[in-house]
Amino acid sequence: MTDIPTRWFDAIPKVELHVHLEGSIPLDTLWELVQRYGGDPSVPTRAALEQRFVYTDFAHFIEMWVWKNRYIRSLDDFTLLAEAVARDFAAQNIIYVEAHYSPTDFRALGFSIAAITAAIRTGLDRCAETTVLLICDVVRDSPIERAMQTVHEVAALRHLGVVGIGLGGSEQSHPPEPFAPVFALARSYGLHTTVHAGEAAGPASIWGAINALLPERIGHAGRAVEDPALVEYYVAHNLALECCPLSNVRTNVYPSIAAHPVGMFIARGMCVTINTDDPKMFHNTLTDEYAALVDVYGLTRRDICRLIENAVDVSWLAPEGRAALHATLSTHPDWVRD
Ligand SMILES: [Zn+2]
Repeated sequence: MTDIPTRWFDAIPKVELHVHLEGSIPLDTLWELVQRYGGDPSVPTRAALEQRFVYTDFAHFIEMWVWKNRYIRSLDDFTLLAEAVARDFAAQNIIYVEAHYSPTDFRALGFSIAAITAAIRTGLDRCAETTVLLICDVVRDSPIERAMQTVHEVAALRHLGVVGIGLGGSEQSHPPEPFAPVFALARSYGLHTTVHAGEAAGPASIWGAINALLPERIGHAGRAVEDPALVEYYVAHNLALECCPLSNVRTNVYPSIAAHPVGMFIARGMCVTINTDDPKMFHNTLTDEYAALVDVYGLTRRDICRLIENAVDVSWLAPEGRAALHATLSTHPDWVRD
């Protein structure tokens, strides 16, 4: 048991850099959507919905991701879910978020990426307590031409808070290298970039992401431990890591937090940030993540605050935005400074 009370983790202001909007829909809201569209006989109750989000492996998680998306059908649905997600962040004192969203998963609905993004922004802006910027997932399962087109479209959506692109999806079957022109295009527009790597695939995927895509941050990043040279590269280049420990346990990448490399990454002084990935599909919170790190690795309150400060440092806010966020953290009565 941790000797830091849960209420402290709950009370401190927190930051998320790796969380998916569609994986963060509060279950009450998702249940409302499932029922609105006729339900699924195999999921007769809300409790059954919760049970549905338990996985044998990463591919099974992707299968459930696709199942859930079938119940998001109108622009009003995007507004509804975005407002619910932002209010849920605010209720946990998560005050700043860079959230992935995957508009191309909904191509069959016939809406433009701009229309989906605007609907999401309307919902997010109904919650003033938390700032949510957006990272458009170009989805590695997509053809390159579509990913290029997605970048062209989202580059025009800065006024809706789109600040970058990410590469998610089925890492085990879609290596990063073919997406090099997509990331070059994003950079040419001034968009920020991050890549899921080292989650469902090993070091080759991470090296491919680093060398071909030149991302500013690496999502997950854990399986670098299978190649000592890659771990040394992380240290030497102070790479920004978006670690998602409980997500990796839930998809059986690691059997436990104790077996997760995040403890070693922190001990070696790497630029680690802690994130929930898909909190309503993994039944985790940032409080759970921090409490687990304290339990297993003996981290202190100061260590936890430092992890959150790392997230501010590698966020994609302008320098004055980062400074304002640091000021909010450091002046909070529960914050622990050096
Ligand atoms: Zn993710």
